[in-house]
Amino acid sequence: MTSDNNYFSSDGNYEKAKSWLKSQADEIGLEFNIVEFERPAEFAIWMTWKGSRPELKSILLNSHIDVVPVDQDKWTWDPFAAEMDSNGNIFARGTQDMKSVGIQYLEAIRTLKVQGFVPERSVHVSFVPDEELGGTKGMKVFVETPEFLKLNVGFGLDEGIGNPDESFVVSYGERAIWQVKFTAKGNTGHALRFIEDTAAEKLQTVINKMLDLRCKEKKRLESDSNLGMGSVTSVNMTILQGGLQINIVPPELSASFDLRVTPKWDISDALKFLDGVCTEAGPGVSYEWIFRSDHGFAQTELQGNSFWEAFEKACNEMELKLDVQVFPGATDIRYLRHIGIPALGFSPINNTPVLLHDNDEFLNDKVFLRGITIYERIIRNVTSAADVPTIP
Ligand SMILES: [Zn+2]
Repeated sequence: MTSDNNYFSSDGNYEKAKSWLKSQADEIGLEFNIVEFERPAEFAIWMTWKGSRPELKSILLNSHIDVVPVDQDKWTWDPFAAEMDSNGNIFARGTQDMKSVGIQYLEAIRTLKVQGFVPERSVHVSFVPDEELGGTKGMKVFVETPEFLKLNVGFGLDEGIGNPDESFVVSYGERAIWQVKFTAKGNTGHALRFIEDTAAEKLQTVINKMLDLRCKEKKRLESDSNLGMGSVTSVNMTILQGGLQINIVPPELSASFDLRVTPKWDISDALKFLDGVCTEAGPGVSYEWIFRSDHGFAQTELQGNSFWEAFEKACNEMELKLDVQVFPGATDIRYLRHIGIPALGFSPINNTPVLLHDNDEFLNDKVFLRGITIYERIIRNVTSAADVPTIP
């Protein structure tokens, strides 16, 4: 999952990762490809398993190779040694997010090849370098390259999130990230008077409106157990700025908000809401974008989607319980959905505490190995799914 903290560094030894991945492709017998952008940390790797009908739209299995840093002192285990305890729990950064998944893709393909399975559709396993920093130098750029277009991807899988209970989380959408700063301008003067039309009164309206939305969405989430975080819009006021001196009525004040907008809220309605806040607050109130990513508004339609049906069938055959939802965070998959490719977020991790980005992140060996079997079945099914048209 993408980290919100941009100070997280993905600086690492990419060359070592690239050559290790190349050795895996050679060993399994997959075609190894790499496209490099401007800097060493800007690239995308994909391994191709050619299908018997390569003219059909292909399947993309994506994972990111970067991880978030660790607070070493808070770990009981060496976070980069992948040590296993007596219960089979493997402790290491990336065991959940998401080195496990990248390896499971490859191991599933290795097994299927040994079994003599030949997919109808081609399968591409992609590895990108900077999901934790927003994917702007990896997946976001990759999907716009001619190399990517040539892959003719019809369906994608990427990371999901673990689940402490029996069911497996599957996401068909993500929330959009909107970070917005409202600025209110008003009359200034000595603070001993009742000055008309002050910035503070206008900003008060802005804050009230925004926090009303927060309250409404929070209540909606709490009153309906069928809703997850991804189905509501979260709002938080994160920065307040302004003021010159304690006895001067400020000519300008601002308040910034972090919103995670559910794709279930129509984008034009959401924009209208922000405009309405300004209008109600009065003249001299405007907003600017600190960060805006609308990629999350692109959801994958499940109804009538043969790839989804093939995926779901595979899960049913294995009697896996699915928890189908909108993912509350952001991942690289949004770039695929944004260009109209149906895609699901899924990590075959159940009965496991959610420890991505946390201390003592671990995955049990049985859960990990079962995940390989799960992908074998999924790959078998989705590579023989009927075609679905992509959204232009
Ligand atoms: Zn991740």
